[in-house]
Amino acid sequence: MKDKNAIERRKFLKLSSAAVLAGLAGRLAGSQRKEGLSVVEEAARKVGKLPRRKLGYSQREVSMLIGAGDLELLCTEAGVLCGMNYWHKANRWMSSGAPEVIIKNRDAHYCQVTVDRVGSDHYSGHFDEEEHYRYVKEALEKTGLRYFDDMQLHFGYHNTDELKKDRSFIRAFERLKKEGSVKHLCLSQHSYEGSSRVQNGQSAAEVLTAVVEDGIYEHAQFMYSYGGDPDMDKFMEFAREKNFGTIAMKTARGIGRMKQDESFMARLPEGTSPHNALVRWLTTKTKLDAAVIRVRNLGEFVETYSGAGKDLRARDLRAIEMMTAEADKTACRLCGKCQSGCPQQIPITDILRFERYAMDDHDWIKASKLYAGLPTKGDQCIGCRSCVQSCPLNLQIPEKIARAHIMLV
Ligand code: SF4
Ligand code: SF4
Repeated sequence: MKDKNAIERRKFLKLSSAAVLAGLAGRLAGSQRKEGLSVVEEAARKVGKLPRRKLGYSQREVSMLIGAGDLELLCTEAGVLCGMNYWHKANRWMSSGAPEVIIKNRDAHYCQVTVDRVGSDHYSGHFDEEEHYRYVKEALEKTGLRYFDDMQLHFGYHNTDELKKDRSFIRAFERLKKEGSVKHLCLSQHSYEGSSRVQNGQSAAEVLTAVVEDGIYEHAQFMYSYGGDPDMDKFMEFAREKNFGTIAMKTARGIGRMKQDESFMARLPEGTSPHNALVRWLTTKTKLDAAVIRVRNLGEFVETYSGAGKDLRARDLRAIEMMTAEADKTACRLCGKCQSGCPQQIPITDILRFERYAMDDHDWIKASKLYAGLPTKGDQCIGCRSCVQSCPLNLQIPEKIARAHIMLV
């Protein structure tokens, strides 16, 4: 059954990609052309060309909104037409091969392979030069991409000591680079501050500052959204001084639940939408080089990406202020500051990250699956409220994790 699905998907990918490419060349006609091409072209026309920025030491020009290997296929094709040229998690194309629209013009794109620790999850897993090397080789073969532009350490380091002492991931990169299989090194960095699951965990800003000083990695992804984050703002200034690239992820904090709140949406200034205002803000008012934003279909693609590089009008600023006030009441920033004081060692940040997958991305399967893997769950909370005192948003954490537990079990 799995094979049959893979074949069907491959056929669909080929047809859909061919519709874009061949349609442009006038080789498909009639209904095929109409179905495969018009919706994608129309969406791309509404978005226009995405602005580009230079990324990291190599100064590669990348679209300020980057794509991802789990982006819906028609959105990928529309993105290509808009000049989207950086693809995070390109290894997600291992099951079906990279989209033809990218393979056919391979050198016009930057494709990233995301590599995890081995043996377990990102808390207790470890680095292993051979395993990382083998995984990238396998990903190359299965995606058909010939080389990856970036090799990304997924989730990053637990602390600065680990960065200094364990160079296995970097050694795997150097071997692959010598062979021409990868070109640049990057990481996504989560916060491990106060985590009960790692020793001496540090914040994303602390680890990333050491990464920049170390000088081997070229750019990083980290969590950043509206409402700002003083630690990450400071880091971004430092990164820019050093020519180190910055890409924001998990940018749409709380937006999924806001869009389901009719009264909130009705109060937004006319002509604004949360995703569009977010993108205007991210691409014109921050020190970021790029951002990744999850969209689920062509409608969201147009609504969201059409804000790229456009002025943040007074009404968008008002929308951002309203969104910040709303999100600060409900959606965690994933900063990790609440973790260290929990006597029950509850992984609060993880639980609230999974809650965001469910409530904002509507990805309940992923959220429940990840929650099931936690060694300590929200039902172990004793209501001492020491976490609430450390939270910069004063989120009502015990109530939130109790609700998340009921939702995700
Ligand atoms: S209230 Fe619950 S989650 Fe917060 S510190 Fe106490 S036990 Fe941990
Ligand atoms: S609950 Fe508060 S302190 Fe804890 S990670 Fe979220 S925003 Fe930070």
